[in-house]
Amino acid sequence: MADSLEKAVDDTMEMPHTAPNILPTELCAECKDSCCQLLPGAFFPNDLGDITVESVVAFVLSGRACIDWWECDPREVFVSTEEAVSRGCFLRPRTVAASDRPVDASWGGVCTHLSDAGCMLTRDEMPTACKALEPGKDGCVDHSGGKNGAAMAWLPYCDVMENAIGICQRENVREE
Ligand code: SF4
Ligand code: SF4
Repeated sequence: MADSLEKAVDDTMEMPHTAPNILPTELCAECKDSCCQLLPGAFFPNDLGDITVESVVAFVLSGRACIDWWECDPREVFVSTEEAVSRGCFLRPRTVAASDRPVDASWGGVCTHLSDAGCMLTRDEMPTACKALEPGKDGCVDHSGGKNGAAMAWLPYCDVMENAIGICQRENVREE
């Protein structure tokens, strides 16, 4: 592991990148889950607990999530080409249009956990990013940092996620 990534991993382990837990308001009842129809919010490592290749693969292959990524190193500080990671992988719920894909870097779509009655997950099961949306009349504010925030949260698990991608893709081909 490159030195700068090792330091970022140490820093993030010490102070995990997370987001506030904000309860829905009456605005949410009026807007009928437009956030969930536009783009599923990302899971953060704290949503899964123990992060291993096996736990990530099992979670993804259960259909509850897919692996997505930030297209390059998510760190805002300068990272040399040798030290940078090629992408910042994270987990998010699948979209209806790509519900058969365990690995999906497309943007946007209706979340598979959305029903006519709203989110089918309990508050505890919901992705951290979904709970970090602050409802607002002039637009809701995402306090999770969006895709970059999710990629930063998962940065300590880059190797785990890259290994999980390979396994999930192989398993998915086998099932087809
Ligand atoms: S967070 Fe915003 S977009 Fe999502 S349901 Fe509430 S008001 Fe609607
Ligand atoms: S997991 Fe639930 S709250 Fe989050 S985007 Fe999907 S339906 Fe909405």
